[in-house]
Amino acid sequence: MEYPRLETLRRVRRMVVKLGSSVLSGSKQRLDFSTLRRLSGDVAALKAQQRQVILVSSGAILAGREQLALGIRPMTTQLKQAAAAVGQSRLMRAWDEAFAREKITAAQVLLTREDLRQRRRYLNARNTLFTLLRLGVVPVINENDTVSTDEIKFGDNDTLSALVAGLCDADLLVLLTDRDGLYSADPRDDPGARLIACVSEGEAAVRAGRSATGATGSPAPLQWSGTKEAAERRVELCAGGRPGPAGSGGMASKFKAAQLAAGTGIPTVIANGFNAGILQRVLAGEEVGTLFIARASPLDKRRQWLAFAAHPRGQIHVDEGAREALAGKSKSLLPSGIKSVSKSFEAGDVVSLVSGGVEFARGLSNYNSKELDKIKGLKTSQIEAALGYKPADEVVHRDNMAVLRR
Ligand code: GLU
Repeated sequence: MEYPRLETLRRVRRMVVKLGSSVLSGSKQRLDFSTLRRLSGDVAALKAQQRQVILVSSGAILAGREQLALGIRPMTTQLKQAAAAVGQSRLMRAWDEAFAREKITAAQVLLTREDLRQRRRYLNARNTLFTLLRLGVVPVINENDTVSTDEIKFGDNDTLSALVAGLCDADLLVLLTDRDGLYSADPRDDPGARLIACVSEGEAAVRAGRSATGATGSPAPLQWSGTKEAAERRVELCAGGRPGPAGSGGMASKFKAAQLAAGTGIPTVIANGFNAGILQRVLAGEEVGTLFIARASPLDKRRQWLAFAAHPRGQIHVDEGAREALAGKSKSLLPSGIKSVSKSFEAGDVVSLVSGGVEFARGLSNYNSKELDKIKGLKTSQIEAALGYKPADEVVHRDNMAVLRR
Protein backbone atom coordinates (compact mmCIF):
# COMPACT_ATOMS: atom_id res chain seq x y z
CA MET A 1 0.00 0.00 0.00
CA GLU A 2 1.29 3.46 -0.89
CA TYR A 3 2.16 5.54 2.17
CA PRO A 4 0.23 8.82 2.12
CA ARG A 5 3.40 10.94 2.23
CA LEU A 6 1.78 14.15 1.13
CA GLU A 7 -1.10 13.82 3.60
CA THR A 8 1.26 13.08 6.47
CA LEU A 9 3.54 16.00 5.73
CA ARG A 10 0.79 18.47 4.98
CA ARG A 11 -0.70 17.85 8.41
CA VAL A 12 2.56 18.70 10.22
CA ARG A 13 1.98 21.50 12.75
CA ARG A 14 5.07 21.14 14.93
CA MET A 15 8.45 19.99 13.72
CA VAL A 16 11.96 19.53 15.03
CA VAL A 17 14.73 20.33 12.56
CA LYS A 18 18.23 19.13 13.34
CA LEU A 19 21.13 20.93 11.70
CA GLY A 20 24.46 19.21 11.73
CA SER A 21 27.82 20.96 11.83
CA SER A 22 28.44 19.79 8.26
CA VAL A 23 25.48 21.87 7.06
CA LEU A 24 26.20 24.89 9.25
CA SER A 25 29.82 25.00 8.15
CA GLY A 26 28.83 25.00 4.48
CA SER A 27 31.78 22.60 3.95
CA LYS A 28 34.22 25.13 5.43
CA GLN A 29 35.79 24.76 8.85
CA ARG A 30 33.73 27.58 10.36
CA LEU A 31 30.15 28.72 10.85
CA ASP A 32 28.73 29.80 7.52
CA PHE A 33 26.49 32.79 8.24
CA SER A 34 24.84 32.72 4.83
CA THR A 35 23.63 29.16 5.53
CA LEU A 36 22.16 30.28 8.86
CA ARG A 37 20.40 33.18 7.12
CA ARG A 38 19.01 30.88 4.41
CA LEU A 39 17.71 28.41 6.99
CA SER A 40 16.18 31.20 9.10
CA GLY A 41 14.34 32.32 5.97
CA ASP A 42 13.04 28.76 5.51
CA VAL A 43 11.88 28.65 9.13
CA ALA A 44 10.14 32.03 8.71
CA ALA A 45 8.28 30.67 5.69
CA LEU A 46 7.12 27.67 7.71
CA LYS A 47 6.01 29.87 10.59
CA ALA A 48 4.01 31.93 8.11
CA GLN A 49 2.15 28.69 7.35
CA GLN A 50 1.29 28.45 11.08
CA ARG A 51 3.81 25.68 11.70
CA GLN A 52 5.92 25.60 14.86
CA VAL A 53 9.62 24.92 14.45
CA ILE A 54 12.17 23.80 17.02
CA LEU A 55 15.79 23.75 15.91
CA VAL A 56 18.44 21.42 17.24
CA SER A 57 21.62 23.14 16.20
CA SER A 58 25.14 21.78 16.37
CA GLY A 59 28.03 24.07 15.65
CA ALA A 60 29.25 25.14 19.10
CA ILE A 61 32.47 23.17 18.89
CA LEU A 62 32.92 24.24 15.29
CA ALA A 63 32.58 27.93 16.20
CA GLY A 64 34.82 27.57 19.27
CA ARG A 65 37.46 25.76 17.25
CA GLU A 66 37.55 28.68 14.84
CA GLN A 67 37.67 31.35 17.57
CA LEU A 68 40.46 29.53 19.42
CA ALA A 69 42.30 28.87 16.15
CA LEU A 70 42.49 25.16 16.93
CA GLY A 71 42.62 24.13 13.27
CA ILE A 72 41.46 20.66 12.35
CA ARG A 73 43.59 18.72 14.81
CA PRO A 74 41.75 16.06 16.85
CA MET A 75 40.64 17.33 20.24
CA THR A 76 40.38 15.77 23.69
CA THR A 77 36.98 15.81 25.40
CA GLN A 78 38.13 18.66 27.64
CA LEU A 79 39.26 20.74 24.71
CA LYS A 80 35.95 20.07 22.95
CA GLN A 81 34.09 21.18 26.06
CA ALA A 82 36.16 24.36 26.22
CA ALA A 83 35.60 24.97 22.51
CA ALA A 84 31.86 24.45 23.01
CA ALA A 85 31.84 27.00 25.85
CA VAL A 86 33.52 29.55 23.59
CA GLY A 87 31.49 28.59 20.52
CA GLN A 88 27.98 28.27 21.94
CA SER A 89 27.61 32.03 22.51
CA ARG A 90 28.96 32.74 19.03
CA LEU A 91 26.57 30.17 17.58
CA MET A 92 23.63 31.70 19.41
CA ARG A 93 24.59 35.22 18.39
CA ALA A 94 24.66 34.05 14.78
CA TRP A 95 21.16 32.52 15.12
CA ASP A 96 19.86 35.63 16.89
CA GLU A 97 21.11 37.83 14.08
CA ALA A 98 19.83 35.53 11.36
CA PHE A 99 16.35 35.30 12.94
CA ALA A 100 16.23 39.04 13.69
CA ARG A 101 16.26 39.64 9.91
CA GLU A 102 13.04 37.62 9.80
CA LYS A 103 11.62 39.40 12.87
CA ILE A 104 11.73 36.15 14.79
CA THR A 105 12.96 35.76 18.37
CA ALA A 106 15.15 32.75 19.08
CA ALA A 107 15.79 31.13 22.47
CA GLN A 108 18.79 29.12 23.56
CA VAL A 109 17.98 25.81 25.28
CA LEU A 110 20.90 23.66 26.44
CA LEU A 111 20.11 20.13 27.57
CA THR A 112 22.02 17.22 29.05
CA ARG A 113 20.95 13.59 29.06
CA GLU A 114 20.25 13.95 32.77
CA ASP A 115 17.60 16.57 32.03
CA LEU A 116 15.55 14.03 30.11
CA ARG A 117 16.31 11.04 32.31
CA GLN A 118 14.73 12.55 35.39
CA ARG A 119 11.01 12.71 34.95
CA ARG A 120 10.62 16.06 36.74
CA ARG A 121 13.31 17.74 34.68
CA TYR A 122 11.88 16.10 31.55
CA LEU A 123 8.46 17.62 32.29
CA ASN A 124 10.06 21.00 33.10
CA ALA A 125 11.92 21.07 29.80
CA ARG A 126 8.69 20.12 28.02
CA ASN A 127 6.74 22.92 29.70
CA THR A 128 9.40 25.51 28.88
CA LEU A 129 9.44 24.47 25.23
CA PHE A 130 5.65 24.69 25.03
CA THR A 131 5.73 28.17 26.59
CA LEU A 132 8.36 29.33 24.11
CA LEU A 133 6.29 27.98 21.21
CA ARG A 134 3.17 29.70 22.53
CA LEU A 135 5.17 32.96 22.56
CA GLY A 136 6.08 32.45 18.90
CA VAL A 137 9.76 31.97 19.74
CA VAL A 138 11.99 29.49 17.90
CA PRO A 139 13.85 27.35 20.45
CA VAL A 140 17.41 26.58 19.37
CA ILE A 141 18.52 23.52 21.27
CA ASN A 142 21.99 22.09 21.68
CA GLU A 143 23.58 19.63 24.03
CA ASN A 144 25.16 21.37 27.04
CA ASP A 145 28.56 20.07 25.97
CA THR A 146 30.49 21.94 28.64
CA VAL A 147 29.02 19.86 31.46
CA SER A 148 28.24 16.65 29.53
CA THR A 149 30.66 13.94 30.46
CA ASP A 150 30.65 10.65 28.61
CA GLU A 151 28.12 9.01 30.96
CA ILE A 152 25.61 11.80 30.60
CA LYS A 153 26.08 12.61 26.93
CA PHE A 154 23.37 12.13 24.34
CA GLY A 155 26.26 11.08 22.19
CA ASP A 156 25.23 13.14 19.21
CA ASN A 157 22.62 15.69 18.28
CA ASP A 158 20.79 13.13 16.13
CA THR A 159 19.74 11.25 19.25
CA LEU A 160 19.07 14.51 21.07
CA SER A 161 16.77 15.70 18.28
CA ALA A 162 14.78 12.44 18.29
CA LEU A 163 14.31 12.71 22.05
CA VAL A 164 13.34 16.37 21.71
CA ALA A 165 10.77 15.44 19.03
CA GLY A 166 9.18 13.03 21.51
CA LEU A 167 9.52 15.50 24.36
CA CYS A 168 7.52 18.20 22.59
CA ASP A 169 5.01 15.99 20.73
CA ALA A 170 6.37 16.98 17.31
CA ASP A 171 4.61 15.70 14.19
CA LEU A 172 7.84 15.45 12.24
CA LEU A 173 11.60 15.26 12.70
CA VAL A 174 13.84 16.51 9.90
CA LEU A 175 17.54 15.69 10.01
CA LEU A 176 19.38 18.01 7.66
CA THR A 177 22.75 16.74 6.62
CA ASP A 178 25.26 17.06 3.78
CA ARG A 179 23.78 14.12 1.91
CA ASP A 180 20.51 13.57 0.07
CA GLY A 181 19.33 10.89 2.48
CA LEU A 182 19.98 7.26 3.29
CA TYR A 183 21.70 5.34 0.51
CA SER A 184 21.88 1.66 -0.35
CA ALA A 185 25.68 2.01 0.03
CA ASP A 186 28.08 4.81 0.94
CA PRO A 187 27.88 7.09 -2.12
CA ARG A 188 31.42 8.32 -1.47
CA ASP A 189 32.70 4.82 -2.15
CA ASP A 190 30.09 3.39 -4.49
CA PRO A 191 28.88 5.46 -7.46
CA GLY A 192 25.98 3.04 -7.97
CA ALA A 193 24.58 3.79 -4.50
CA ARG A 194 20.85 4.47 -4.61
CA LEU A 195 18.89 6.88 -2.48
CA ILE A 196 16.31 5.08 -0.37
CA ALA A 197 13.08 7.07 -0.60
CA CYS A 198 11.13 5.45 2.15
CA VAL A 199 11.77 3.12 5.08
CA SER A 200 8.89 1.55 6.91
CA GLU A 201 9.17 -0.18 10.21
CA GLY A 202 6.64 -2.97 9.92
CA GLU A 203 7.69 -4.63 6.68
CA ALA A 204 10.66 -4.95 4.40
CA ALA A 205 9.37 -1.93 2.51
CA VAL A 206 12.51 -0.09 1.59
CA ARG A 207 12.18 1.65 -1.72
CA ALA A 208 15.04 3.10 -3.69
CA GLY A 209 14.90 6.19 -5.85
CA ARG A 210 17.63 8.06 -7.69
CA SER A 211 21.16 6.76 -7.74
CA ALA A 212 24.06 8.80 -6.30
CA THR A 213 25.32 9.59 -9.76
CA GLY A 214 21.92 10.96 -10.69
CA ALA A 215 21.34 8.20 -13.25
CA THR A 216 18.20 8.84 -15.24
CA GLY A 217 15.37 6.49 -16.08
CA SER A 218 12.66 5.25 -13.82
CA PRO A 219 14.16 4.10 -10.56
CA ALA A 220 13.96 0.36 -10.13
CA PRO A 221 12.82 -0.29 -6.59
CA LEU A 222 15.27 -2.37 -4.65
CA GLN A 223 13.74 -5.74 -4.01
CA TRP A 224 14.55 -6.28 -0.40
CA SER A 225 12.76 -9.47 0.25
CA GLY A 226 12.97 -11.43 3.45
CA THR A 227 12.04 -10.73 6.99
CA LYS A 228 11.80 -7.35 8.64
CA GLU A 229 14.92 -8.17 10.66
CA ALA A 230 16.86 -8.94 7.47
CA ALA A 231 15.72 -5.66 5.95
CA GLU A 232 16.69 -3.76 9.06
CA ARG A 233 20.10 -5.36 9.14
CA ARG A 234 20.56 -4.50 5.51
CA VAL A 235 19.62 -0.87 6.11
CA GLU A 236 21.89 -0.75 9.09
CA LEU A 237 24.77 -1.93 6.97
CA CYS A 238 24.00 0.70 4.38
CA ALA A 239 23.69 3.31 7.07
CA GLY A 240 27.18 2.64 8.30
CA GLY A 241 28.44 5.74 6.50
CA ARG A 242 31.09 7.59 8.44
CA PRO A 243 30.53 11.23 9.36
CA GLY A 244 31.96 14.02 7.25
CA PRO A 245 34.84 16.15 8.58
CA ALA A 246 32.66 18.54 10.63
CA GLY A 247 29.94 16.13 11.70
CA SER A 248 29.98 13.74 14.60
CA GLY A 249 27.10 11.36 13.94
CA GLY A 250 27.24 9.94 10.43
CA MET A 251 24.38 8.10 8.75
CA ALA A 252 24.26 5.27 11.29
CA SER A 253 23.34 7.67 14.09
CA LYS A 254 20.74 9.33 11.85
CA PHE A 255 19.23 5.94 11.13
CA LYS A 256 19.06 5.16 14.84
CA ALA A 257 17.53 8.55 15.60
CA ALA A 258 14.91 8.01 12.90
CA GLN A 259 14.08 4.61 14.38
CA LEU A 260 13.78 6.14 17.84
CA ALA A 261 11.41 8.80 16.52
CA ALA A 262 9.43 6.18 14.58
CA GLY A 263 8.98 4.27 17.85
CA THR A 264 7.43 7.34 19.41
CA GLY A 265 5.05 7.71 16.47
CA ILE A 266 6.97 10.51 14.74
CA PRO A 267 8.02 10.26 11.08
CA THR A 268 11.50 11.43 10.14
CA VAL A 269 12.93 12.83 6.93
CA ILE A 270 16.69 12.79 6.34
CA ALA A 271 17.44 15.38 3.67
CA ASN A 272 20.16 17.58 2.24
CA GLY A 273 20.52 20.86 4.14
CA PHE A 274 22.41 22.45 1.26
CA ASN A 275 19.37 22.39 -1.02
CA ALA A 276 17.51 25.69 -1.22
CA GLY A 277 14.04 25.61 0.27
CA ILE A 278 14.54 22.05 1.46
CA LEU A 279 12.15 22.34 4.43
CA GLN A 280 9.31 23.67 2.27
CA ARG A 281 9.96 20.93 -0.28
CA VAL A 282 9.80 18.25 2.39
CA LEU A 283 6.54 19.64 3.75
CA ALA A 284 5.08 19.97 0.28
CA GLY A 285 5.40 16.18 0.09
CA GLU A 286 8.06 16.23 -2.63
CA GLU A 287 10.04 13.01 -2.88
CA VAL A 288 13.21 14.47 -1.43
CA GLY A 289 15.38 12.69 1.11
CA THR A 290 14.51 9.52 2.93
CA LEU A 291 11.21 9.30 4.79
CA PHE A 292 11.02 6.99 7.79
CA ILE A 293 7.44 6.00 8.44
CA ALA A 294 6.37 6.16 12.07
CA ARG A 295 5.12 3.22 14.06
CA ALA A 296 1.33 2.97 13.69
CA SER A 297 0.70 2.28 17.38
CA PRO A 298 3.43 4.10 19.28
CA LEU A 299 4.07 3.81 22.99
CA ASP A 300 2.12 6.24 25.15
CA LYS A 301 4.01 9.26 26.53
CA ARG A 302 4.90 7.74 29.87
CA ARG A 303 6.18 4.57 28.26
CA GLN A 304 8.13 6.64 25.74
CA TRP A 305 9.94 8.28 28.61
CA LEU A 306 10.60 4.88 30.20
CA ALA A 307 11.83 3.39 26.94
CA PHE A 308 13.93 6.17 25.50
CA ALA A 309 14.71 8.95 27.93
CA ALA A 310 15.02 7.34 31.33
CA HIS A 311 18.26 5.79 32.46
CA PRO A 312 18.08 2.19 33.72
CA ARG A 313 19.94 1.85 37.01
CA GLY A 314 20.23 -1.93 36.92
CA GLN A 315 19.08 -5.11 35.26
CA ILE A 316 16.63 -7.82 36.19
CA HIS A 317 17.36 -11.06 34.34
CA VAL A 318 14.22 -13.12 33.79
CA ASP A 319 13.53 -16.59 32.41
CA GLU A 320 12.00 -17.26 29.01
CA GLY A 321 8.54 -17.89 30.46
CA ALA A 322 8.51 -14.49 32.13
CA ARG A 323 9.76 -12.82 28.93
CA GLU A 324 6.90 -14.36 26.98
CA ALA A 325 4.34 -13.33 29.59
CA LEU A 326 5.65 -9.73 29.69
CA ALA A 327 6.45 -9.10 26.05
CA GLY A 328 3.81 -11.31 24.45
CA LYS A 329 0.90 -11.07 26.86
CA SER A 330 1.55 -7.70 28.54
CA LYS A 331 1.65 -9.24 32.03
CA SER A 332 3.42 -7.78 35.07
CA LEU A 333 6.73 -9.18 36.32
CA LEU A 334 6.43 -11.41 39.40
CA PRO A 335 9.36 -12.65 41.52
CA SER A 336 8.92 -16.23 40.25
CA GLY A 337 10.26 -15.31 36.79
CA ILE A 338 13.42 -13.59 38.09
CA LYS A 339 16.74 -15.40 37.72
CA SER A 340 19.16 -12.73 38.93
CA VAL A 341 19.70 -9.03 39.44
CA SER A 342 22.69 -6.91 38.48
CA LYS A 343 23.87 -3.51 39.73
CA SER A 344 22.32 -1.99 42.80
CA PHE A 345 19.14 0.07 42.49
CA GLU A 346 16.39 1.47 44.68
CA ALA A 347 12.66 0.88 44.62
CA GLY A 348 11.20 3.33 42.09
CA ASP A 349 14.27 3.23 39.83
CA VAL A 350 14.00 2.39 36.15
CA VAL A 351 15.46 -1.04 35.39
CA SER A 352 16.17 -3.03 32.24
CA LEU A 353 14.42 -6.36 31.89
CA VAL A 354 16.76 -8.80 30.22
CA SER A 355 16.28 -12.31 28.87
CA GLY A 356 19.00 -14.38 27.22
CA GLY A 357 21.34 -11.38 27.48
CA VAL A 358 18.97 -9.15 25.48
CA GLU A 359 17.15 -6.18 26.97
CA PHE A 360 13.50 -6.49 25.91
CA ALA A 361 11.72 -4.05 28.25
CA ARG A 362 12.19 -1.29 30.81
CA GLY A 363 10.13 -0.52 33.83
CA LEU A 364 9.90 0.91 37.33
CA SER A 365 10.84 -1.61 40.00
CA ASN A 366 8.72 -1.81 43.15
CA TYR A 367 11.63 -3.45 44.98
CA ASN A 368 15.28 -2.57 45.44
CA SER A 369 18.02 -4.88 44.20
CA LYS A 370 18.79 -6.33 47.66
CA GLU A 371 15.14 -7.27 48.20
CA LEU A 372 14.98 -8.86 44.76
CA ASP A 373 18.01 -10.97 45.55
CA LYS A 374 16.06 -12.42 48.46
CA ILE A 375 12.75 -13.00 46.66
CA LYS A 376 13.89 -14.04 43.17
CA GLY A 377 12.26 -17.29 42.06
CA LEU A 378 9.67 -17.17 44.87
CA LYS A 379 5.89 -17.20 44.58
CA THR A 380 4.14 -13.94 45.51
CA SER A 381 2.64 -15.71 48.54
CA GLN A 382 6.19 -16.27 49.84
CA ILE A 383 7.37 -12.63 49.63
CA GLU A 384 6.22 -11.58 53.07
CA ALA A 385 7.87 -14.54 54.79
CA ALA A 386 11.15 -13.81 53.01
CA LEU A 387 11.23 -10.03 53.60
CA GLY A 388 8.94 -9.45 56.56
CA TYR A 389 6.79 -7.13 54.43
CA LYS A 390 5.30 -7.01 50.93
CA PRO A 391 5.05 -3.63 49.14
CA ALA A 392 3.45 -5.18 46.05
CA ASP A 393 2.76 -8.51 44.34
CA GLU A 394 4.38 -7.30 41.15
CA VAL A 395 8.07 -6.50 40.90
CA VAL A 396 7.38 -4.37 37.83
CA HIS A 397 3.75 -3.59 37.15
CA ARG A 398 2.68 -3.76 33.53
CA ASP A 399 1.43 -0.12 33.71
CA ASN A 400 4.99 0.92 34.56
CA MET A 401 6.63 -1.07 31.81
CA ALA A 402 7.60 -0.33 28.19
CA VAL A 403 8.27 -3.35 25.99
CA LEU A 404 11.11 -2.60 23.57
CA ARG A 405 10.98 -5.85 21.59
CA ARG A 406 8.29 -8.50 21.47
N1 GLU B 1 26.92 19.62 20.43
C1 GLU B 1 27.97 19.62 19.44
C2 GLU B 1 28.27 21.04 18.98
O1 GLU B 1 27.46 21.90 19.14
C3 GLU B 1 27.61 18.82 18.20
C4 GLU B 1 27.26 17.39 18.41
C5 GLU B 1 26.71 16.77 17.11
O2 GLU B 1 26.71 17.42 16.07
O3 GLU B 1 26.25 15.64 17.13
O4 GLU B 1 29.31 21.26 18.42
